[in-house]
Formats: sequence, C-alpha cells, structure tokens
Amino acid sequence: MIMPRRIPDIAIIGAGAAGLACAERLVERGLQVQVYDKGRQPGGRVAHRARGGLEFEHGAPGYRDRILSLSSRVPIASRCRVTGLARTDEGRWRVFVDGHPLRSLHAEVVLAMPPQQTAALLQVAPELARPLERVTMRPVLTAMVGLPRPLGRSFDHIAFDEPSLAEARRQPGDTVVGPEGWVLHASAAFSRDNIECEPGAVAEHLWQRFRNNLGLVATTPLYLRGHRWRFGRTETPLGTECLHDRELGIGVCGDWCLGDGVEYALASGRALAARILGIPERRSGTITAAREGKA
Ligand SMILES: Cc1cc2nc3c(=O)[nH]c(=O)nc-3n(C[C@H](O)[C@H](O)[C@H](O)COP(=O)(O)OP(=O)(O)OC[C@H]3O[C@@H](n4cnc5c(N)ncnc54)[C@H](O)[C@@H]3O)c2cc1C
Repeated sequence: MIMPRRIPDIAIIGAGAAGLACAERLVERGLQVQVYDKGRQPGGRVAHRARGGLEFEHGAPGYRDRILSLSSRVPIASRCRVTGLARTDEGRWRVFVDGHPLRSLHAEVVLAMPPQQTAALLQVAPELARPLERVTMRPVLTAMVGLPRPLGRSFDHIAFDEPSLAEARRQPGDTVVGPEGWVLHASAAFSRDNIECEPGAVAEHLWQRFRNNLGLVATTPLYLRGHRWRFGRTETPLGTECLHDRELGIGVCGDWCLGDGVEYALASGRALAARILGIPERRSGTITAAREGKA
C-alpha cells in the first residue's frame, strides 16, 4: 500500500459509488482524503471483470466510466480490508487494516459500505449504528457466461418468468463474429434460498436454465463463473441521505440510505461531503427511481 506524503484529513472506507462521490466533493474543496477498499479495484457493486477477451459488468451495468472518472481524482488504497477503528484521546481516528493499526491519524472517518459491513465498524459510535438495524438488503446471485459465438438475436436484455433465473444481459463488446458475454441474474427468492451455495454450482444451474430457455442445447460456454452479492440490492432504505456525527467526526453513506441504485449511492456520498464541509448540498435534480440497466 502506498501511503500519501501528507497525512489525510479524512479516511473514507469503501471505494464504491458513494465513497468515491464523497471523496471527490471533499477533494474539490481542498481537503486531503485517503480512500481504502478491500477490493482489487474501485467500484464496489459497479463491478467489472475482463476474461478471455470478454468484458463482464456483473454488478450495476453502465456506470463503469463514471467510476473510472471519479476514481482517477482521489487517492485509493486497494486490497485494504478495514477491520477496526479507534479514537485517540486527542479525538483523532486510527484505522486498522487486517488487524494492524495504520500510523496516520485522521480528523474524520467516512464509512461508505453496505449497512451490515458499516455496523461491524460502528462499535465506536453506537448512536450511529442503531438506525441501521431497520435497513434490509437482499442478496443477488449472478453468473458470467462467455459464449463461443454471438446468439445472433437482436435483444440485449431478456427477462425470464421462472423460479430461479430472473434476467440475462448481453455484455458490451464487438459481438459480430467473436465470443459474446452474458451476465445472468438469479431471482430474488432463488438468491435468498441459495446464498450459501458455492458460486460455481449456482453459475452452472443458471447457465442450464438460460440454455434450456433459449434452446442452446449444443452450446458449451468458454467461460462460466458465479458471483455472490451478499448485500446486493436495497430492500428497506434508511430514509435519510446519510448520517453524520460532527462531534465524533464520523459519517456513513451508501445507496441504502436513500434507496436502491447507483444514483442513490452517488447522492448519499455527496450529501455526506456537504455535511462534513458544513455547506448546503448542491442538488442536480430529484431521484425518483433507481435507474435499471443504464447502459
Ligand atoms: C447484480 C446487481 C445489479 C445491479 N443493477 C443495478 C442497476 O441496473 N442500476 C442501478 O442503479 N443499480 C444497480 N445495482 C445496485 C448498485 O450496484 C448499488 O446501488 C451501488 O453500486 C452501491 O454503491 P455503494 O457505494 O453504496 O456501495 P458498494 O458499491 O457496495 O461499495 C462499498 C465498497 O466498500 C468496500 N468495503 C466493504 N467492506 C470493507 C472493509 N471492511 N474495508 C474496506 N473496504 C470495504 C467494498 O469492497 C466496496 O467497494 C445492482 C447491484 C447488483 C449487485
């Protein structure tokens, strides 16, 4: 991990849309931030994987450029799983990564993760943790499938009316002759009932359902992987854009504060930045619904 030369004022845990939007606003106003994320790359549930010449967006599709643009403007330490926070007698925050304390101390800390992961770090601020108990998230099981040839059909999105497979999305890329990527999403009920199943077995099941539904009997995929989103989509949001304790210097944000979807995550992150800065939030419009499949 590369540590910044000047000790950052604010530590942001989580480089998803919410954490990055918060970080960008703070940096714009001249604050020094350091973002930490346990993943290999930023984006969180705006997830992207490149395999065998194929690109898969196996979380929220259509937001990759937005994430790349945000993440180019803020310092991010990847592969850093934050396991604890401690407040010093001087009122500054120490961050623990994989059980080890980091040397730098921060004036403020932002938690930009799903509520269950946020709550695990909030023993230091029980008043902030309590409202999170009413938030519920639902899991989503997904499969990434690389087909040897394009399906040759004109649609990019297929909705299924069956118990396990809910939808399939064609992935971006040149699909005239070469391989073609699809991401399959399990239904809410199937995801909930099978969340502890091995993702490879889930991927195989979803692929079989896709294959049977589309009559692709002779097709063998070039690539097949499953992914488990344990906290995939917001079911019951908190009902407020973010939480912030100015005295302690700690705040939380994420899609789940306001609703389900990337736009809610971005709005929540920006709202928390405004609270930290003590300025009114600049609003670009009202979000009425999570954008489904923006691409
Ligand atoms: C399969 C799927 C499809 C979706 N489709 C759509 C769609 O079509 N349209 C739409 O608008 N939304 C969609 N969504 C929802 C959208 O992805 C989320 O609303 C949004 O990305 C949430 O952003 P966030 O920043 O709040 O959280 P996240 O993206 O979850 O970011 C949290 C970050 O915190 C990190 N983290 C967690 N714990 C720690 C720790 N202890 N230490 C360090 N880092 C940590 C994680 O690695 C992650 O990067 C979809 C989600 C899924 C799962």
